[in-house]
Amino acid sequence: MEHLPIFVDLKQRDCLVVGGGDIAARKAGLLLKAQARVTVVAPAISATMQQLVDEKQLTWLESRFDTQHVNSQRLVIAATDDEAVNDAVHAAATAKNILTNVADNPDKCDFILASILDRSPIVVAVSSGGGSPVLARNLRARLETLIPPGYSKLGELVARYREAVKQKFGKMAQRRRFWESVLEGPVADHMLAGREQLAESTLMQKLADPENETIGRGEVYLVGAGPGDPDLLTFKALRLMQQADVVFYDRLVSKEVLALVRKEAELIYVGKQRAWHAVRQEEINQLLLEYAQQGKRVLRLKGGDPFIFGRGGEEIDTLADEKIPFQVVPGITAASGCASYAGIPLTHRDYAQSCVFVTGQLKQGELDLNWESLVQPRQTVVVYMGLAGLSELSRQLQAHGMAADKPAALVQQGTTENQKVWVSTINELPAIAEREKPVAPTLVIIGEVTRLHNTLAWFKSG
Ligand code: SAH
Repeated sequence: MEHLPIFVDLKQRDCLVVGGGDIAARKAGLLLKAQARVTVVAPAISATMQQLVDEKQLTWLESRFDTQHVNSQRLVIAATDDEAVNDAVHAAATAKNILTNVADNPDKCDFILASILDRSPIVVAVSSGGGSPVLARNLRARLETLIPPGYSKLGELVARYREAVKQKFGKMAQRRRFWESVLEGPVADHMLAGREQLAESTLMQKLADPENETIGRGEVYLVGAGPGDPDLLTFKALRLMQQADVVFYDRLVSKEVLALVRKEAELIYVGKQRAWHAVRQEEINQLLLEYAQQGKRVLRLKGGDPFIFGRGGEEIDTLADEKIPFQVVPGITAASGCASYAGIPLTHRDYAQSCVFVTGQLKQGELDLNWESLVQPRQTVVVYMGLAGLSELSRQLQAHGMAADKPAALVQQGTTENQKVWVSTINELPAIAEREKPVAPTLVIIGEVTRLHNTLAWFKSG
């Protein structure tokens, strides 16, 4: 190991930054985060540094560096663009045994500033030994996805109860077991979901009754899995997918996404068939409830966004009635995913100032839509579940005044390797569907913007 990672307490300690540019400002900013008393020495300073001065966060000595500036400093950082000055700072500080960092010069650094993930009181520091700050930053970014901001509050909660837990459990092993059950269980879940009070009350209950495994368990995560490309999952979706005990999914969830679910989780397919829709939905609602009541972490994975033609509201309705905790994680809806991956901007200064999402699902062979609202000028219309009723859709839109040559597109299995896009007109679209036989799921997009596909398409499917 080239360096020993340590966390230094700099609260109200004097630290010196030599240099007034943006790099110096960034380093000063880090020291300020650690509540150090920072002095900056430089004949002139950048706007960023000036802002810190204006906000009275640090003191600026408007002068050239002088060896006496290092006196009584705990840490010294040299970040000027003049090598001779940086060397002079390093020499002066070293003569007084003060730890020094010279920007961009690993050989002259007694300490290096790590890439920091700040979830205070939890702090993760990543260092590449000064050799590759970019690599360290990349790694930090990955950790960012694994350690959500809620860890700050979780860290605070644990710190608050540390003493009480020590009182309760005499043995170290007991304490460890207790904290493991807190940090891998519902207390952490509640905190990371922003339910601070529930987290704390669950912790208190566990402390009063540590043998009771069921306290606070049982929750439903209603999670949007996006349109197919697993790269479009949110951090939160991924985190919850990796801690679920049981997963209910349907046919819109891609197998690539499903592959990211925790390996030990039980997978249950609840794909719907159009004809017995209504019964099934109630059954699903009931299943979610029953599993949560058994104390399981239940993941309901839905294609796209759960609250956009996803019946997400109904699924959590029962849970709300029964006071089962749940959280809803938005996903990228088919309209956004397909539009982006097909190079079709849903709105555009020149062509569309509004965009509406409608369902094209047939009821007894008919479409019950507000046709006038759909034939407005400068508007993009996105039709979900519109493939089966496409002829009727095309006919009705034209009957209500839409021009036969209104540009329109079909996007099959958007964002996946099977994505296909057909751009034509509202009049021609049914014939195209007849001929090309797009596979579900397919999205219909109507409006001038669809023509932009011809120039803006960028995504190449398999
Ligand atoms: N909640 C989902 C929509 C469910 S309705 C969401 O927010 O995306 C199902 C309809 O969504 C399908 O009939 C199809 O029209 C559309 N759809 C979903 N995923 C799609 C995809 N990857 N490509 C094209 N259309 C898709």
